[in-house]
Amino acid sequence: MKTHSAHENAVIQLEQVAKILRNEYADEVQSRFDTAIDKLKTPDRVFEESLTIQMDDGSSREFTAFRSQHDNARGPYKGGIRFHENVSRDEVMALSTWMTWKCAVTGIPYGGGKGGVIVNPRILSAGELQRLSRAYARFLAPYIGPWVDVPAPDVNTNGQIMAWMVDEYEQFQLETNKSQGENPVATFTGKPLELGGSQGREEATGLGGIYVLEKLAEKMKWSDKKKVSIAIQGFGNVGYWFAKHAFDRGYTVVALSDSKGAIYNPEGLDPEKVLATKQKTGTLSGGKAITNEELLALDVTVLVPAALENVITAEIAPKIKAAAIIEMANGPTTPEADALLEKKGIVLIPDVLANAGGVTTSYFEWVQNLHGYYWSHAEVLAKLQPLMDRAFIEIWKVKETSKQSMRMATYMKAVKSVVDLMLLRGRV
Ligand code: GLU
Repeated sequence: MKTHSAHENAVIQLEQVAKILRNEYADEVQSRFDTAIDKLKTPDRVFEESLTIQMDDGSSREFTAFRSQHDNARGPYKGGIRFHENVSRDEVMALSTWMTWKCAVTGIPYGGGKGGVIVNPRILSAGELQRLSRAYARFLAPYIGPWVDVPAPDVNTNGQIMAWMVDEYEQFQLETNKSQGENPVATFTGKPLELGGSQGREEATGLGGIYVLEKLAEKMKWSDKKKVSIAIQGFGNVGYWFAKHAFDRGYTVVALSDSKGAIYNPEGLDPEKVLATKQKTGTLSGGKAITNEELLALDVTVLVPAALENVITAEIAPKIKAAAIIEMANGPTTPEADALLEKKGIVLIPDVLANAGGVTTSYFEWVQNLHGYYWSHAEVLAKLQPLMDRAFIEIWKVKETSKQSMRMATYMKAVKSVVDLMLLRGRV
């Protein structure tokens, strides 16, 4: 079977939901609705540049960089920056589209954006990584700002990288008189605490997924948490924090994986211990070594893809035995696999709901930066949980009344909210 690119998948999903949603609009609005859907199939714009970096050995190397600004009807473009070998124009286009839906899901006032550089950052020294991050920020500087486009971390980027980018952006502002007086710190989120970061931001994506898991457990009547077994693919920031909070709340994390391989222990794994040994030895330990594909097919209660897109394909879907899937990665399931999983009765909580905790806490960070007034860890979490819970409950209701999948129900809410703003603004 032909596998589609990530952006083709994003367009297929949009077309599927548009078919259902169209009927909710009065006859005289339907042609404007169609124009809005067409417009949302491609980003507003995609910037591309070749960044030249001086390497430690004196040579120079070029890296291709992108930023896709998908839609800003709901507010400034928002989304992370990814450093990975598989980054492409198509991928950032897809990821920025998903950001538009994600921000609409929890109701935060942003549109969608995403950036990336084609690079394996593990081969760079700290100095090279800093020079690449600064070059990227300089390339983006004319197109971003707190009210225009607000980048953040994504795969293989973190608070340190945001700190370098803030600094470079600030220098660019001084040199060019661009937006003098505009807050450079509010232009990036996911920053270190000392540089205007928010309490709770680092763990927020994983923790947001746990709030979703807890709501799902209520609906599925999983009363004994110990008996809820969880397999997690991916042990980066998102996978780790999801695993840690699941473990702390009494769920049984039986499998974990990283790019090198996976481990399985039916008795349960302690994610903190697994991380400590990974930091020492470079590998995951504490269970039987299995492949990433075996992890996806484990007989568990919940499967959590928390790495990259297109891992649950039409080939893998028939082998999946989990009762539920919580998508913590962006775009891990193809539309073909989606249909197969639905037929099997597997409940799938889509990415734009499950991993919305990260960008929602980015929003809190931005609000704190704009006010210059900072909240405690408890205050941040007390604001995050109700937004995640409310989104879950509303979408579950849509699913029940419309008899659609959770993905469709989520998209119905998200796409409707974006299209309504496009109509209200008179853009279509
Ligand atoms: N990269 C994260 C995501 O995909 C966070 C984006 C942000 O905070 O802007 O949701």
